[in-house]
Amino acid sequence: MKSLQDTTTLHNGVKMPWFGLGVYKVQEGEEALKSVKAAIKAGYRAIDTAALYENEESVGQAIKESGVPREELFITTKVWNSDQRNDSVMEAFETSLKKLGLEYVDLYLVHWPVKEKYKQTWKVLEQLYKEGRVRAIGVSNFNIRQLEDLLADAEIKPMVNQVELHPLLSQPELRKYCKNQEIQIEAWAPLGQGRLLKHPVLTELAVRHNKSTAQVILRWDLQNEIVTIPKSVKEHRIIENADIFDFELSASDIEKINALNENKRFGADPETFNF
Ligand code: NAD
Repeated sequence: MKSLQDTTTLHNGVKMPWFGLGVYKVQEGEEALKSVKAAIKAGYRAIDTAALYENEESVGQAIKESGVPREELFITTKVWNSDQRNDSVMEAFETSLKKLGLEYVDLYLVHWPVKEKYKQTWKVLEQLYKEGRVRAIGVSNFNIRQLEDLLADAEIKPMVNQVELHPLLSQPELRKYCKNQEIQIEAWAPLGQGRLLKHPVLTELAVRHNKSTAQVILRWDLQNEIVTIPKSVKEHRIIENADIFDFELSASDIEKINALNENKRFGADPETFNF
């Protein structure tokens, strides 16, 4: 990994950037338009949105206005839980595609493992994949038990599992399981939604490397082969977050960060979520 445009190869051969921009809670309109355009201008090639975020139209507009050819970008979106419950996954996909103004998405994810529903949802994603309407399919917020359950019936193995993952929740078992299954792990809330930026161990490492705390965390992701999608709407932070290719954490730095794991979630637990 030497640059912002470097990619990991998913198990179906599709190349996915290691680094991208997350747009959760970024407002449709000026805010989403500006931040996505700033990211693409700064060299980002991956954008992570979802039907839930209600900003797919602005993401699509930013893509068009960016001047970067569509095929050079990697766009992820996700099917929301209500569409799984209502058996409207195919319609939800069509709506997302239309809002984005795209012919295909690069990665389509099952946003959460909705009980009694996610296997049925997966069949629809398999169909979309076979029809060539998505270049890759995956899941989000699946733990090992849920992955095993899905794999027992799946025809196509998910290419990605996007989960909450940061130094206080470093998910070592899940990462190992996914690696063995050739499922690429991707971190949401890599910065703990901004809550980890004053952590003393991380700030001490940042000072030593003359980088910011955010940069140390994001570099830890990449050195651990974790795809990462930090969110910011501020152009200077969008640039800062991606400026992590000029330094390296040592094995002992990585150990120090690994030792911070407390299995601490800021978001919901995939086993008990109620939305
Ligand atoms: P994050 O860990 O990326 O933190 C984002 C917050 O950190 C920002 O709002 C900002 O306040 C702060 N920040 C960012 N860069 C900074 C910097 N350089 N200096 C200081 N502060 C900085 O949290 P997130 O947005 O929740 O997660 C990233 C992305 O993951 C989301 O935008 C979304 O695309 C995705 N996501 C997915 C799920 C899911 O269920 N699949 C859930 C949450 C988020």
